[in-house]
Amino acid sequence: MNVDVPCGVCGATNRVPKERIGDRPKCGQCKRPLLPHEPVTATDQTFAAEVERSPIPVLVDFWAPWCGPCRTVAPLLESVAAQMGGRVKVVKVNVDENKKTASRFGITSIPALKMFRNGSVVDELLGAVPRPTLVEFAERHAA
Ligand SMILES: [Zn+2]
Repeated sequence: MNVDVPCGVCGATNRVPKERIGDRPKCGQCKRPLLPHEPVTATDQTFAAEVERSPIPVLVDFWAPWCGPCRTVAPLLESVAAQMGGRVKVVKVNVDENKKTASRFGITSIPALKMFRNGSVVDELLGAVPRPTLVEFAERHAA
């Protein structure tokens, strides 16, 4: 069985055999990783491709550079992405630069961590949560 994976960089749709999802597939068009093992930045323009059309659950970190607790969470998200890439995708959205997306999801305080599955928010965590909480949250929803 194949899964359609949109490339967050060039927008091309890639057909990937389901059993190869964990093998770090690359985009056939631009050769960038389709399911990165590090946090990816999304914008108002790329949010639909990076998050809403993702075939695997996406953990979105709504953050801003001036937010201290966001800096605390950032390395935890990097380790979740490194460990669970291919099963859960980690995406960062700068709320100052992407106000449309931030307002669409009603972000009023940051960091706000939202889990998306098939384009919908299925769970969320607010504030700078400790590492075990974040890992448990990611594991609970990972593909
Ligand atoms: Zn591509």
